Amino acid sequence: MAPHGTFRGPSDLHLHSDHSDGTEPPAAVMAAAHRAGLRTAALTDHDTTSGWAEAGEAATSLGMTLLPGMELSARHEWRSVHVLGYLFDPDDAGVRALTDRIRTSRLTRAREMAERIGRDLDLTWEDIEAQTAEGATVGRPHLADALVAKGLVRDRGEAFAGILHPGSDYYVALYAPDPVTAVATIADAGGVPIIAHPAGRAGLLPDRVTTAMLDAGLAGFELGHRENAEPALARLRALVARRDLIVTGSSDYHGAGKPNQPGEFTTSDDMVARIIARATGSAPVFP
Ligand code: AMP
Ligand code: FE
Ligand code: FE
Ligand code: ZN
Repeated sequence: MAPHGTFRGPSDLHLHSDHSDGTEPPAAVMAAAHRAGLRTAALTDHDTTSGWAEAGEAATSLGMTLLPGMELSARHEWRSVHVLGYLFDPDDAGVRALTDRIRTSRLTRAREMAERIGRDLDLTWEDIEAQTAEGATVGRPHLADALVAKGLVRDRGEAFAGILHPGSDYYVALYAPDPVTAVATIADAGGVPIIAHPAGRAGLLPDRVTTAMLDAGLAGFELGHRENAEPALARLRALVARRDLIVTGSSDYHGAGKPNQPGEFTTSDDMVARIIARATGSAPVFP
């Protein structure tokens, strides 16, 4: 493990770059975090760790600490579940196999959705490629950006509410593991799994799934997030207190792709310290 260092708050542990569906390169994401007054930030692109090196260099050059992370795609029945993983080993075979499989499926699925949309609207695969950085984890946000560029919708929000909605004829599901597998994969790689935006519009997962995730090594919940809502949030607060779990708060910044701004929710120094102490897979990048 890397030598001991220290971090300073305020800390925002959920930000996206153009290595997935954010609109800025990792260095620009760290610069935006710094401008917002943050001193510790995590890069958590969907299903990839490819932005860690650039983010680490940018963060430390700004005097910030980087917590390397990822937001792993999972699904329980019809609903998508996002598992944040911090400080896991990026070369772990289980992580590599799972993220490779998800990203491959995402590519096939994006092509299929583009094909379906292209039957009715003026949209081609090249339009999506033009919106996707080389090697990035592709997703519906890139299809949305292509639709915007073609003048077919106003913004990502309009695309998600219509053409890209799961209820749309154009929608294709991606392969995603069940949440227990996703949690176990992060934990087995020495990382710290935290459920992202756990009290969003879909409401809480069934108790038996939550219990199984905790048994598989789930460390806590992202209770500070603009998409969380009562009464689900109150139930999670009670669970977290009962089991002394880790609680985070974060922005889920996506650059220009979402209104979320760095630092709109933050994580306490105590909780950041608990995440660092629990992890064995990789170390924070200290300035
Ligand atoms: P996908 O994983 O490809 O199905 O796409 C889901 C991603 O789209 C999530 O990671 C969100 O960041 C993004 N997303 C979902 N809804 C919206 C929205 N209304 N506006 C912008 N981005 C969204
Ligand atoms: Fe996203
Ligand atoms: Fe998410
Ligand atoms: Zn996210």
